[in-house]
Order: sequence, then structure tokens, then C-alpha cells
Amino acid sequence: MPPKPRFLDTTLRDGEQTPGVNLTPDDKMSIAAALDSLGVDVIEAGSAPVSDGERSAIRAIAKAGLRAEICSYTRAVKADIDHALSCDVDSIHLVVPLSDLHITQKLKKTRPQVLEASLDAARYAKDHGLQVEYSAEDASRADFQFLSDAYRAAAQVPVDRICFCDTVGVLQPRKVEEIFQALRALGPPAAFHGHNDFGLGTANSVAALLSGAAQAHVTINGLGERAGNASLEEVVLVLERLHGIPTSIRKEKLYEVSKLVSRLTKMPVGLSKPVVGENAFTHGSGIHIHGMRADPATYEPIPPELVGRTRRFVFGKHTGKAGIEISLQELGLRARPEQVDEITRRVKELGDKGFKVTDADLKAIIDSVLQVGAEPKVKLKELSVVSGNHMTPTASITLQVNGREVVEAATGVGPVDAAINAIRKAMAGAKDIELVEYHVDSVTGGTNAVVLVIVKMARGDKVITAQGAREDIIMASVEAVLAGINRLL
Ligand code: MN
Repeated sequence: MPPKPRFLDTTLRDGEQTPGVNLTPDDKMSIAAALDSLGVDVIEAGSAPVSDGERSAIRAIAKAGLRAEICSYTRAVKADIDHALSCDVDSIHLVVPLSDLHITQKLKKTRPQVLEASLDAARYAKDHGLQVEYSAEDASRADFQFLSDAYRAAAQVPVDRICFCDTVGVLQPRKVEEIFQALRALGPPAAFHGHNDFGLGTANSVAALLSGAAQAHVTINGLGERAGNASLEEVVLVLERLHGIPTSIRKEKLYEVSKLVSRLTKMPVGLSKPVVGENAFTHGSGIHIHGMRADPATYEPIPPELVGRTRRFVFGKHTGKAGIEISLQELGLRARPEQVDEITRRVKELGDKGFKVTDADLKAIIDSVLQVGAEPKVKLKELSVVSGNHMTPTASITLQVNGREVVEAATGVGPVDAAINAIRKAMAGAKDIELVEYHVDSVTGGTNAVVLVIVKMARGDKVITAQGAREDIIMASVEAVLAGINRLL
């Protein structure tokens, strides 16, 4: 068996260079611990020269007793390496710009000057007991002959690893293959650092690993400068699911770590982001749901539980009875055909109004439809409520109680209170029924969301809870109270 691909995670360095991201030392420690639990081989914990705060964060991570190798970014400058040494890291990611563009425009130096300084820095770091990953910045736009000479000289130091950085993400998989086949001859294990400017970060990183690279640089959620770096979750899943190459990453933790990183960096993950995006395991179309009833593999190339996720269904106007029946089955519930029709009708009604009906919304609708018994004693026929400023909220209600129509009106402090008071008056024959608690929740966000009303009601020593779910808070309240009354009668 060839050795497993290694991962250097740079969420805490390149990822922290994502525009708008600033992590506190505590945040960095939490993310480092999560990365360690995922099983990455190297954690690039930050850039020691940056600041006192950054150094104390890197130092804390280095002292935390994590299993992973802890690494700091440095330039080819003695002072940077001294800062890294002061943090007690295992290794440095020694970054040396080797394209003529960077050498002449950014550094205003010559090739020999840059090469000489980089080798001095590598020797200095090795003399002080650090492992060194000698990393060519902008390697993809460097003269390949000069680049190879630099790697060969670094191998003589000797450095521990070399790294080829596609700093601005301009390579394509075929070119990456050629490069890594050529780098094999140089000796030290080679790494690839890929960016995503053209959406090729994952493809290029996989190509490198398949062509002899020992290690890929990755970040959680693909964070990183500009369009970001290759993402750990994507590279791992491509290797394992599409190439059958095992990695040491604990895939079942990928989603939880993704969410932690998103929360601490305050960088939302795109809905459609592979593996960790909100929609990556969400199904909406009736046709897909029908297929998945026979076999989830019909529309799921990755089983959600493999990456610590669950399958979700979103309902709407495309929803058919089959989808509702599957959901009922999954919830372990049985419904009569007319109840399935009623649930489907309410779902389509929301869909037609342009709402996304999530599984939480659906659950609320199902609960509200199913809890009404076969022959409710009390049914709502009509309700009208008026409310506003300079007026007393008033409700008039027509109930069917044991087959007989009862009409009542009442006022209240607000429209919901007025409607409930009207029910109380109409139910004067059952004065012993008490509303003990009233609780309202928006199931999903927004003023147009489904509102869930939960009531606790009592009759003597019998206490029950009942609920109503509607987009209309008054209707949801009335539905909940009537459901409670029917159960108590
Ligand atoms: Mn980078």
C-alpha cells in the first residue's frame, strides 16, 4: 500500500487571510483542536512574524499536546524564523517567491539574491531544530528550470519537504500532473498549495496527489485569499469516493468542523458548496424523492451520514402525496388518505405563495393535521377578527359543537386574545376547560413563516398540550385551542 496522502491544513494561516476574517487566540485554539480531531497531519497555525497576539496563539497551539505537527509560516528572513522558534513550533512553511514577476516587482531583487537568502534561512532553521517545508511562492508562473535548481539546492540543505504553490490558481490538472511527475526525481517529498481563482483548486490538488505529491495544502470550507484555497472536505471526498484512495481524515466530523469554522470566522458557507453546503444533501423535486424511496443512491453520490450529515427534504408546490407519505413513514406516523390530502394541500398552498417548506415546517403541518381526531366534536366554521389602533380588538366566531352551530363574539387585549375569548364564550357548556399556557414560535424565520402555537390546556386533573401551525398567528392559535378542546372533551 502506498502511504496515505498527507494534509497540511492552512485554515489558520491562508484561511485567516480571507478578506474580513480575524480570529482571536481562543478561536484559533478551538479550530486547531477540531482540525486535530479530524486527523490532519500538519496544522499551519499562523504566521509568527505577524503580531504578539498571533505568536501567543501559535505558542498555545504548539503547547496543547495535539497529535498533528504544528507549523508556522515564515519568510526567508532570520527574524521570522526567530519568531517561529519563540513559538516552539515543530516546523516552518518557509515561503520563497520564485517567479520573476515576484522577484523583480515585489522583492526588487535578483534570482541569485533570493535563492541565496532562502537557502541561508533554511539552513538557519534546520540548525535550530525545525523541520522545514521549502515552499516556492508563485511557482506556477516561475521559470521551471530555475525552480528545479532551487528545489535541488534546498534538497542539499537538506530540507524536509518541498512545496509547489499555485499562488494565484492558474494551473490546470494536466499541467499539475506533468509538474509533479518531474518533481518526483528531486528527492524530498513534495506538497501542492492550490488556490481556487478558476474553480480548479480541488481538481488540481487531487491531480497533484495522484501524480506523486505526498501532501496537499487545504482549508476548511475552502477559505483563503481571494477565491480561497482547495478545500479539505472536497479533496478528501474526491480521493475516497471517486478514486478509492483512503485518507486518515475522520469524514464523519467534517460537517461539525465546517460549522465551527464558519461560526468563528463569521464566513457563511455557500448553500451549494459541495459536502458542507446547506443544500448538499437536500432534495426538493418529487421525482427525486420518488427515486430515493427505492434507493437513496439514485440521487446521492455521497451518503450523508458518511460526512456527519442527514438527508433533508424541502417541500413546496412540486410536492406530491408520495413525498408526504415518505415523510410520514420516516416519522413513524400513519395518516388516513384525506389527511394526506390535507397535508399535501397545505404544503402546496405555501409553495404557491413562494415559500420554501422545510422539514421542520412540514412536521408542524403534519402534527397539526394529525392530532385532530376522526370526528372532532368542535369544528371551526367561520372566524373574523378586527384589530387596529383606536379600536377594541373584536372577534366573532361560528363553531359547530356536536353538530349544532354556535355564534359568539368577544373582545380582547389583542386579536389573538379576542379570538380565544370568543371560543371560550361559545364553549360556555364546557367551562371547566382551562387554557393554562400559550406559547408561540416561528418555525422558520421571517414574518411570513409558519407560526407554531403550542397550548397547555386542562380539564380537572387532565392536562394536555396541543398545537396549531399556520402562516397566520390567529388561525394557528385558534387551531391549537380547538385541538386542545377536542382532546379534552
Ligand atoms: Mn496561499
